[in-house]
Amino acid sequence: MSKVRTRFAPSPTGYLHIGGLRTALYGYLYAKNLGGDFILRIEDTDTARYVDGSVQIIYDTMRDSGIMYDEGPDVGGNYGPYVQSERKNIYTEYAKKLVELGGAYYCFCSADRISSLKDGEGNMKYDKHCLSLSKEEIEEKLASGCPFVIRQNVPLEGTGTYHDLVYGDISVDYKDIEDGILIKSDGMPTYNFANVIDDHLMGITHVIRGTEYLSSTPKYNLMYDAFGWERPTYIHLPPIMKDAVHKLSKRNGDASYEDFVNKGYVKEAIVNYIALLGWSPKTNQEKMSLEELKKNFSLEGINKSPSIFDENKMRWLSGEYIKAMTDEELLEKADKFFAESKVYGKYDMKKIASLLKTRIEIFSQIPEKINFLEEFGAYDTALFCHKKMKTDVEIAKIVLPEARKTLEGLTDFSFDSIHDALMQLVAKLGMKNGQVFWCVRVAITGFESTAGGVMEIAELLGKEETLKRLDYSISLIK
Ligand code: GLU
Repeated sequence: MSKVRTRFAPSPTGYLHIGGLRTALYGYLYAKNLGGDFILRIEDTDTARYVDGSVQIIYDTMRDSGIMYDEGPDVGGNYGPYVQSERKNIYTEYAKKLVELGGAYYCFCSADRISSLKDGEGNMKYDKHCLSLSKEEIEEKLASGCPFVIRQNVPLEGTGTYHDLVYGDISVDYKDIEDGILIKSDGMPTYNFANVIDDHLMGITHVIRGTEYLSSTPKYNLMYDAFGWERPTYIHLPPIMKDAVHKLSKRNGDASYEDFVNKGYVKEAIVNYIALLGWSPKTNQEKMSLEELKKNFSLEGINKSPSIFDENKMRWLSGEYIKAMTDEELLEKADKFFAESKVYGKYDMKKIASLLKTRIEIFSQIPEKINFLEEFGAYDTALFCHKKMKTDVEIAKIVLPEARKTLEGLTDFSFDSIHDALMQLVAKLGMKNGQVFWCVRVAITGFESTAGGVMEIAELLGKEETLKRLDYSISLIK
């Protein structure tokens, strides 16, 4: 069997959205699983939809997410150019060939004539009017500079059938396919033509793309057949939904990879989660590195039914990645978010990272979880009420002055001695651990939830600051 070659062929129309990245990822994983090559091709023939800067976004996103291609516009390869607008001459040459082979024809119809073919709903099926022009008529029109397009010559009867590796046998009646434009009047190819020429010339063995192309594939096959080329193998991917009815799409402004990175999701978790949108491994394992995904990926695991994008699930996965990081890794990967906090560089940051690890799911939670170290002031004393811990303001009134006295007596203000002192206080007051710990924690943070437990927080704050905060809290509940 020849070497597997897959490609990702995005159009540069803005941010790389989640669906696009999933297509890229599956193409990459499929090729890498089988020791093949993965190619990036930029499909920029639709100039009306072109967005400045988006080619760079595609390069950056793919590198950043680790979905790296073996060939592409910015890395080269033997099958270039990899940007469609640089391949115009190639398309013209092959379009002429296809005309000679009878698979396409010149069409000189005016815009008015085309409009007159439209039905009440604006739909149009071209009537093959120009197919009957003689060779001489065509040459004369071309010589006189008459504007033209090249259309595909789709049979009026018959059925196009092919086998998709996910969806099985697909059949479309040719009568339902229009003689679509292959070369536009400005000489640019349409996607419908360029994808066939490029996939063939670039030696693509497996075409992986969304189900929106499932029903147009028979018309591409007509072209492969007309040229006498081998058809590629098709793998169509189920749509990703926002909810039961709406597709996730960049046209609807749904979040892109970059948006999620900016929101503080761990990159590996985003890629991991995207891999699970439409594919599942045979095991129950959900957390998988890119290396593991490459090893485990198989077509059998691709689902036919749409999958729903569940941000909470991705968030959970992101939290799992954070838990597994070393303190150094967390500090490095989340540096931007630490820098946004008021604490940056002022404390033992490694210690702070270790306290945070189990308490956040995305990096953007970092500032809110640690700013209390630098910020302390009026807070709602209702925080002392905690049903499960069996505490309230009255309990706090007993605990706080006692805790102040005990902690003031410590010379060694370390985790262990703070712990011992508070445990002795629990015994002395005949209370439950939670009653003492909760009250002191609230009293020295002013928050319901922060990084770290009471001992760690007190240790970080130091004795002086801890006592100062206790004094303030005692005055608040007097
Ligand atoms: N440029 C097309 C798109 O962005 C690519 C489809 C394909 O993979 O053939 O949808």
